[in-house]
Amino acid sequence: MAKHRIAVIGLGKISQDQHLPVIDASGEFELAAVVSTRGLSQGGVPSFRTPAELYRAMPEIGIVAVNTPPDVRHAIAREALAAGKDVLLEKPPAATLTELADLEALAEAKKRVLFATWHSRFNPAVEAARTLLAEAGLRSLRIEWRENVKKWHPGQDWVWEPGGFGVFDPGINALSIFTRILPAIPFVRSAELTYPSNRQTPIAAKLVFASADPAAPALTADFDWRETGGETWHMLIETADGRSARLFKGGAALEVDGRVTVEAPSEEYQHIYRHFAGLLDARRSDVDGAPLRLVADAMLVGRRLTTDAFDW
Ligand code: NAP
Repeated sequence: MAKHRIAVIGLGKISQDQHLPVIDASGEFELAAVVSTRGLSQGGVPSFRTPAELYRAMPEIGIVAVNTPPDVRHAIAREALAAGKDVLLEKPPAATLTELADLEALAEAKKRVLFATWHSRFNPAVEAARTLLAEAGLRSLRIEWRENVKKWHPGQDWVWEPGGFGVFDPGINALSIFTRILPAIPFVRSAELTYPSNRQTPIAAKLVFASADPAAPALTADFDWRETGGETWHMLIETADGRSARLFKGGAALEVDGRVTVEAPSEEYQHIYRHFAGLLDARRSDVDGAPLRLVADAMLVGRRLTTDAFDW
């Protein structure tokens, strides 16, 4: 079967690290063009400064991946859907809930496929954790997601601007797993958001959740971008039947009562593109706003604390 011809919009870190190499090695996709405001090129395919130039010059390209920062994603995705393209969105899929609802509605109206990716969900141990919680019930779950912003977002000033999400940029990855594995819908009960004195987004956040689960499990999250001793991306779980489990390595591994039950290389983006190919073949969209809703709710109920100024 012919490969899907796709254009990648925004050739920043995640496009270079994941999308371009994964498309290059894919049996289902072929890179047809790129759009780069800086004029970067890739693999000899045509490069355009704006999506509009791409759509004019190569109207036959029917699929785009939007890998820009989130605050400009809505306008770019809207333009793509309006031009009749199927669209893959990097996470977070939009800067606001209403922008995401607008994209969903437009995709439906235009009969286009819209895929809001949550890369962390494509880790091998996530479904095993979901099954464990469905079978064993949940007593408590603590998310600990700590990393060094200087290592993971070097010089990316957009993360500190309104719409840039701050520490929720990685935190939403944890929330995408959390909303996938929990047996019942979680709600944000309270949040403590710590802002550097010179920045517009939080560098740390502590969340306490409530849940629709009648067993009322204790649910908390601790996100911090000030970690200098290596990253921690794990969830500590106590099941209702007394087992203790840890989903770790960002969702690539699971241990139950001290024994590793799942551990496999993380191939998040290979799975993303395989899933996208399936959606395109079925002409079906996949848009889940649950992780974005939790971030928005944390901002709605959050208490603001101020800490030292942040500079690169
Ligand atoms: P980045 O390195 O800053 O790259 C974003 C790219 O988008 C820029 O290099 C630029 O590419 C393009 N861009 C920037 N501003 C734009 C604008 N106003 N209009 C159009 N294009 C613009 O950021 P990133 O780390 O790749 O992150 C991008 C998205 O991927 C974020 O939503 C992030 O959460 C997500 N993500 C990142 C990682 C990671 O490890 N960094 C992992 C998973 C997901 P051109 O100069 O080529 O136009």
